[in-house]
Amino acid sequence: MSRECQPCTACCEGWLRIEKDDVRATLGAPCAHCESSGCRIYERRPVDPCHTFVCAWRASGSVLADWMRPDQCKAIVLPDRLRWRGQPATVAVAVGTTIPQRTLDWLKQHAQQNSRPLLWEEYEQVNGVFTGRKRVATHGPVEFAREMLERHGRGEMLW
Ligand code: SF4
Ligand code: SF4
Repeated sequence: MSRECQPCTACCEGWLRIEKDDVRATLGAPCAHCESSGCRIYERRPVDPCHTFVCAWRASGSVLADWMRPDQCKAIVLPDRLRWRGQPATVAVAVGTTIPQRTLDWLKQHAQQNSRPLLWEEYEQVNGVFTGRKRVATHGPVEFAREMLERHGRGEMLW
């Protein structure tokens, strides 16, 4: 890996659900082993998902700019979790309630340049409390948008 995570801990903070033995993270409830400097049990963290998970920013050969580190750009980008009609699609998950416009603009441009559908998810909050509902939006083909929104409406996991 050419990049180090620290001080990012976004994937341990509950924006991505983790349920593995005593390692759990859900929206509003970061992993109990997560601290500002990183993982408190780094040497004995579970292989799956902790050791194996790599976001698009950290991945070897990443095309994401330095400022796109998830704790800074407020999105965790997952390039290989979703396929649509045999093609890879990019998924971006908000770190917080919304993904900033600058980040979305970059992701949309990248999606367009690479003919890759883009799906992003943001979290709904009312009076400072997460409702557990997600907002889903897309960039790319109209059919992709329709299918993702229909599936989301049916309560399906999209990736
Ligand atoms: S979201 Fe990416 S950069 Fe941040 S801690 Fe996880 S793997 Fe590292
Ligand atoms: S065990 Fe460590 S690496 Fe795994 S989710 Fe918790 S803080 Fe993150």
